[in-house]
Amino acid sequence: MKINSDIIDTIKKSKCIALFCHTKPDGDALGSSCAMKYVLEKIGKECDIYCESKIPEHYCYISNYKCIKQTNDKNKKYDLAIALDCSDKKRMGECAKLFDKIPFSIKIDHHKTNEQFANLNQVEIVSSTCEVLYYVINQLGVELDDNIATCLYIGLASDTGCFMHDNTTSNTHEIASKLLEYNIDINKIHYYEFKRRTRAQLELLHICLGNLSFALDDKVAFIHLKLTDFEKTGAEQSDTLGFVNYISNVDTTKVAVMLSEEKPNLFAVSFRTNGTVDVSKIAETFGGGGHKMAAGAKIFGGITTVKKKITDVCKDFV
Ligand code: 5GP
Ligand code: MN
Repeated sequence: MKINSDIIDTIKKSKCIALFCHTKPDGDALGSSCAMKYVLEKIGKECDIYCESKIPEHYCYISNYKCIKQTNDKNKKYDLAIALDCSDKKRMGECAKLFDKIPFSIKIDHHKTNEQFANLNQVEIVSSTCEVLYYVINQLGVELDDNIATCLYIGLASDTGCFMHDNTTSNTHEIASKLLEYNIDINKIHYYEFKRRTRAQLELLHICLGNLSFALDDKVAFIHLKLTDFEKTGAEQSDTLGFVNYISNVDTTKVAVMLSEEKPNLFAVSFRTNGTVDVSKIAETFGGGGHKMAAGAKIFGGITTVKKKITDVCKDFV
C-alpha cells in the first residue's frame, strides 16, 4: 500500500499533534489512536488523543489508554490534527470542534462510506484502520515495538471479528504475523475483546434478547434496549458491544438490527448481515454508514416507529 508522501512529510514536520478517534470507540479506533501516539512520541512529537466518550475499562490492556482526553482543557495549540477510523466528521462528536480549530488535518480510515473531510485523506478499503496505519508507520520509518504491535493487533483482531470476517485478507494475516514477532499478550487481548462479560452486561443481554422480534418473513431480526434497561442493570452503553452478533446468524435473517437508546428517543443502531445485503447502504439512508457487513446510524423516534422506519427501508434490500 502506497501512502501519500504529503501525509508522511506533513507528520514529519509537525510538532504538536492531536489525534481523534470516534465516539463509542472500538478496538480499531482505540488501537489505531494509541498506536499512533506511541509512534509520534518515538519521533519526538508532542501528542494527545481526543475522544468524546469515556473509554471502557476493558481496554486496560492498552497501556496508554488512560491518557485519552475528552476536552482540550488547557487550550493547547496543535499544528496538526489526525482523525483515525472516523468515516465522517460527525463520528468525532463534540471533539469535531477542536478538530476544526487546528490549521491542518489528515484522515486515515478504511470505511467504504466516507467523507473526505481532512486536508489530506488516506482511505483504503482494507480490514481496519490499523492495517492502513501499519504502512503509514512503515513509511515514517518508525520501528515497531511491543506497545505499537499490541495496539495494531487489537485493531486487526477486533475489526475482523478475530480474523473471521471476509475483510480478512492474506495481507491482514501477513501483518498479524509480523506483529506477533513482538511480545503481544494475545490471551489477554482476546479475553478482554471477545470473551469477558460482567454481570451487568449479562443481565442487559438477557433483557435485550427478551426483546427479540422479526419482520419481513424473518428476513430482518431486531433486538433493542431502552434507557431504563441500562438504569435497571447498571450497565453502560459500551456494554452492548457484540450483542448484535447474537442475531446476525439466524438462518432466515439477512439483516440483523440492534437498537440501543442513548438519549430519550435517540437510538444508536447497529446493522449486520450474513453477506447477502450491503448494510452500509441501509445505514446511509439514515445518515449513517460503515461497511458492507457492519454499519450503523443514529435514528430518532420511539422504538415502534424506529423499527417501522427500518423495516420500510429493508423492504428494498432483502
Ligand atoms: P457498530 O454497529 O459496531 O457500532 O458499528 C459498525 C460499523 O458501522 C463501524 O464501522 C462503525 O464505524 C460504523 N458506524 C456505527 N455507527 C455509525 C454512525 O452513526 N455513523 C456512521 N457513519 N457510521 C457508523
Ligand atoms: Mn475500523
